[in-house]
Amino acid sequence: MDFYRILEKAEAGDFLETGEMAVLLNAPDEAAQQALFDAAYRVKSEICGRKVYLRGLIEFSNICTRDCLYCGIRRSNGKVSRYTMEIDEIVRSAALAGQFGYGSVVLQSGERSDPGFVDMVEEILFRIKELPYDLGVTLSCGEESMETYLRWRKAGAKRYLLRIESADEKIFQAIHPAGVLYQERKAALERLKAADFQTGSGVMIGLPGQTAEHLAKDIAFFREMDLDMIGMGPFLPQADTPLGVRYPDSPGMAQRRLETALRMIAVTRLVLRDVNIAATTALQAIDPENGRERGILAGANVIMPNVGDVSRRKDYQLYNGKPSLDENSAVIREKLIASLAAIGETPCFNLHGDPLHYRNRSGK
Ligand code: SAM
Repeated sequence: MDFYRILEKAEAGDFLETGEMAVLLNAPDEAAQQALFDAAYRVKSEICGRKVYLRGLIEFSNICTRDCLYCGIRRSNGKVSRYTMEIDEIVRSAALAGQFGYGSVVLQSGERSDPGFVDMVEEILFRIKELPYDLGVTLSCGEESMETYLRWRKAGAKRYLLRIESADEKIFQAIHPAGVLYQERKAALERLKAADFQTGSGVMIGLPGQTAEHLAKDIAFFREMDLDMIGMGPFLPQADTPLGVRYPDSPGMAQRRLETALRMIAVTRLVLRDVNIAATTALQAIDPENGRERGILAGANVIMPNVGDVSRRKDYQLYNGKPSLDENSAVIREKLIASLAAIGETPCFNLHGDPLHYRNRSGK
């Protein structure tokens, strides 16, 4: 079947086989790619409105026990100066998000499972609940036990982001050290759902050896796992990591990866329909002026502006070229409002912005 027939089927909401998704991901030319973005944006506008949900992002610690081969804050990267924000500082950042009207915050960190860390996150959640702002809280702290997930859920977090990174087991193993297991990451996602989190996952796009067929399988994985939220972005080689050293960018590669990431957002919107999809910072790293806006126009409906302290941001460099390193949160906010207005989108202030999919699947 040809590209446009499949695109029509996708826009109508018919079931797509992975082979059909791969045809869309391989849009044959620029006109086809634009038609794909337009169809996904129509579906996004119809289901989510021409509205964007906001989450204030707080990268509260870069201490990590893992050694993922792509990640700038991996345990073995001795060039990073390590930090964990004080609880008061984290709560102040959450309050700033509330003051800005962001409606939700994302607390992200490296991965730790020691009791001190688990207690600290719980304490932060209790403290955020006491703020005079009604904030939805998302956690993104990695793989934890069921007990920990349940404690954090009870303490007030209602969403959790845990990327599968690649749903292809071979690619997953190639980008992680031995001992980090695909099946364990998948099991952690299942625990999150069982703990009644609004559950999000995603992949990196443009990994070595990854084809459109792999990416189509990633979308099929999202569908099978019945996820509520998707956060994906281009893989960005980080110079101090094994993968960054082995696969440095050649000219034009980053732009191609950005376009692949946008096609991935579009096909994901067409297939999953009512989920929240983030236009991630990694898009902005490649196209600082319009990356996230292009993500919205390809079907995403969530943006996560940074609200943490500017001084910390240089130490939370998962990849090179991370944007907004010097801008304070108020400037980021003003620029975002203006750039969304320029594409006819309205930021939603003072709303949690729950994914419709969660409501539809859970009845809550
Ligand atoms: N530790 C938590 C976890 O593992 O889920 C959350 C923090 S982790 C740094 C957040 C995400 O950053 C990862 O899931 C990964 O997809 C992304 N990331 C890390 N290094 C990257 C790179 N070089 N390029 C693009 N994304 C990267």
